[in-house]
Amino acid sequence: MNFCTEKTDLLCENVTVGENGHLYFAGLDTAFLAEKYGTPLYLMDEDRIRNRCRTYIDAVTEAFGDKGLVLYASKAASFKRIYEIMAEEGMGIDVVSSGEICTALKAGFDIQNAFFHSNNKTDADIKYAIENGIGYFVVDNAEELYAINDIAGGMGISQKVLLRITPGIDPHTFAAVSTGKVDSKFGSAIETGQAKEIVGTALSLENVHLSGFHCHIGSQVFEADVYLKAAEAMLGFIKDMKDAYGYTTEIFDIGGGFGVRYVESHGEVDIAGNIAQIASYVKAKTDELGIEMPTISFEPGRSIVADSGMTLYTAGTVKKIPGFINYVSVDGGMTDNVRFAMYGSPYTLFAANKMEEERNMLCSVVGRCCESGDIIQEKVPLPESVCRGDIIACLTTGAYNYSMASNYNRIPRPPVVMLKDGDSYVAVRRETLEDLTGLDV
Ligand SMILES: *Cc1c(COP(=O)(O)O)cnc(C)c1O
Repeated sequence: MNFCTEKTDLLCENVTVGENGHLYFAGLDTAFLAEKYGTPLYLMDEDRIRNRCRTYIDAVTEAFGDKGLVLYASKAASFKRIYEIMAEEGMGIDVVSSGEICTALKAGFDIQNAFFHSNNKTDADIKYAIENGIGYFVVDNAEELYAINDIAGGMGISQKVLLRITPGIDPHTFAAVSTGKVDSKFGSAIETGQAKEIVGTALSLENVHLSGFHCHIGSQVFEADVYLKAAEAMLGFIKDMKDAYGYTTEIFDIGGGFGVRYVESHGEVDIAGNIAQIASYVKAKTDELGIEMPTISFEPGRSIVADSGMTLYTAGTVKKIPGFINYVSVDGGMTDNVRFAMYGSPYTLFAANKMEEERNMLCSVVGRCCESGDIIQEKVPLPESVCRGDIIACLTTGAYNYSMASNYNRIPRPPVVMLKDGDSYVAVRRETLEDLTGLDV
């Protein structure tokens, strides 16, 4: 993977420290935002999101001309405003449920530009998606293919589909975010012959049109050679399908997964550089194999929104257990950020109103839920003076935080506030106690 060389210890260029010693995000004082909107609070930097979209689109256009597509994997952060931004930036989207489709529709997103993933779409999902004119299904397995064929047939249409293929690549990231290995729950494997078989099935069915193939090897990938290996396996497969069935692939979706910088030791991935590298490999390989160049799509999620996000908390109980550990408790926790509890994910945290103080105390920043595992991060250096009322900022929370939020312990989910041109606006309002009990009959 190519990395950018310029780094700041505040991780991303939209994170700075103001003259008042406060942490600033997208040019705004986080202490002021915490005061204005309350905590816990999700912030999102709209310009950074747009900038990431443009980086991808420019790189893909440069590399593939009009045979390139960029799809935002919207499970990373899914709410109406995000889909509006994606539409404005000319991005396609990935969706994985009727809920995400519905949200995109309410945002006015043209669902023709949506790709419907998931390893287990229900019949209701399939029907809902077709009724609303979904662009493509990314079909996981043969059973699903038959279900789509039946439902599409019943509605008198021919549905465009890609097949999810498991190329047998291990990206060496955390097991729970690795998806391209042969024993994955996702897709049909080349190695077992099931991939070839499902292509034959797709070509034989009347109510589906096979548009191409998809693979996704995992997330938080920092090595470009993993994509080259996946491309090698997939292009070889595409060639085999041409030989076996005379089938010409229209679209090859190479997946998402570019890594982002959660902590200083992570590199910042050079998105454009890596896309250029993948493109030259794909071009050379298609020539070598004597196959037509398909449309190539990328589907980044995390790298579009992660460093556009920041979460603000207010510190509560500070507990120092001499000789053991220090705890700083915040007013959120695993309900708004489950990623440490789930994957042991690293994060960078600061006392946002004390940026000029020495960070001389190591502590666990923990949430307010009744779980010992309710930890935002361990071994966080914070100033020793940290106390009740201080603002604690957790950086790089734009991906898989709001979208994974829960109401465990009946804790309302925080609002999402967008930052744009030195101003802020609410994109998702704070959940209220009324909202929480609203479904109880
Ligand atoms: C989650 C997912 C992505 C996006 O992964 P990121 O790591 O967020 O870039 C892309 N494609 C598929 C199929 C996914 O499941």
